[in-house]
Amino acid sequence: MLQLLEKRELFEKLLEKANKTSFEYNKIPVSGYELVLEIKEKKSGLHGIIAIHNTTLGFALGGTRIQDYHSFEKALEDVLRLSKGMTYKSAIAQTGLGGGKSVILLDPNAPNKKEVLSAFGVAVDHLEGLYVCAEDMGCSTEDVAAIAEKTPYVTGLIHDKSSGNPSPFTAWGTFKGIQACLFHKFRSSSLEGKKIAIQGLGSVGKVLCEYLFWHGAELIVSDINQDSIDEMVKKYGATAVDANDIYQVKCDVFCPCAMGGILNEMTIPSLRCSIVAGAANNQLYCNSNADQLMKKGILYAPDFVINAGGLYNVAEEISEEGYLPKIARNKTDSIYNTLLDIFEIAETNHQSTHQASMELAEYRIKYGIGLREKAACFHHKIK
Ligand code: NAD
Repeated sequence: MLQLLEKRELFEKLLEKANKTSFEYNKIPVSGYELVLEIKEKKSGLHGIIAIHNTTLGFALGGTRIQDYHSFEKALEDVLRLSKGMTYKSAIAQTGLGGGKSVILLDPNAPNKKEVLSAFGVAVDHLEGLYVCAEDMGCSTEDVAAIAEKTPYVTGLIHDKSSGNPSPFTAWGTFKGIQACLFHKFRSSSLEGKKIAIQGLGSVGKVLCEYLFWHGAELIVSDINQDSIDEMVKKYGATAVDANDIYQVKCDVFCPCAMGGILNEMTIPSLRCSIVAGAANNQLYCNSNADQLMKKGILYAPDFVINAGGLYNVAEEISEEGYLPKIARNKTDSIYNTLLDIFEIAETNHQSTHQASMELAEYRIKYGIGLREKAACFHHKIK
């Protein structure tokens, strides 16, 4: 295991090398984070941040978010929250990975996207595998393929040893997580006749709707995109509600699958559900919102536990033999039991489920439980 001092020396060496290129790196000191780098490259117009939160259990893996952040501070806030979340997610899932994330400050439809992605690939390569990227909001499979032209340190690509789009696995893990919540609450994991309110019908939300529908659930859906709503209404007989009204819907499960920070002082008092279980990252606006949910008697499935299906999927492709979907599926299935264990720990300790999962993750990091044993294999070839 690399000690923090050795890691710092390694970072310095890499940055010294990288600074001799056309890239401009600015190290941002953030307490509790191993490395936070602002990256600029003039020719392409790249402006991004790579945040490596913790690499105790393995190198940092996390998606690249492309968004037109209206300020650098907002982008920094986002990447810090997301990279920390990845550390906790990986520690709970025991993937032998650390936590990192990156953001590119760019409109996902910008005309210079290809050049920016190419430059970003070079920046990822400069870190020599300390950070490995994947797709995320605003960053499609084609976009990660553009990054991968410059570096091997990319996952979620389309080739015969790769895992491709992680969203169906994230949706499946979320589905299993919802079943675990139902079992804990009602002693039956059956979805028959259960009312599930889904916020966000994107790559994950739509697939989740399909799984829920075929297991007998009644769907209530909201999105800001009318076409996605119409599709779910037509396909699955879902009931559509306005994006602002989804919080007040009387249902068994509220399932956030869009943006973060939606469980807060404003929304929690309106909730009329027994369970909150969804795929969105960083659902709690702040940690104390978990206590608020607990006081209201709402069972909360911690986001970084329930949405680990996509991570299991990409983590599988860096094995020596390459991606095997059955292994990824079986690992994703384990989210059911992981959640049941966390619910039990939380009840025994009279704490929120969020707190219980954070403590479990921190314990594993402290004692190196789930440490990466085998070197990762990156199977694609750089053009
Ligand atoms: P996506 O961009 O494909 O879909 C997001 C959807 O949310 C879109 O349909 C969008 O129109 C909708 N939306 C935006 N604002 C909304 C609002 N105010 N009300 C209702 N809907 C709104 O993203 P995705 O890949 O489906 O991911 C969804 C969430 O799950 C994100 O928070 C993401 O970080 C998280 N997540 C995704 C994966 C994955 O494998 N894709 C893995 C882990 C976590």
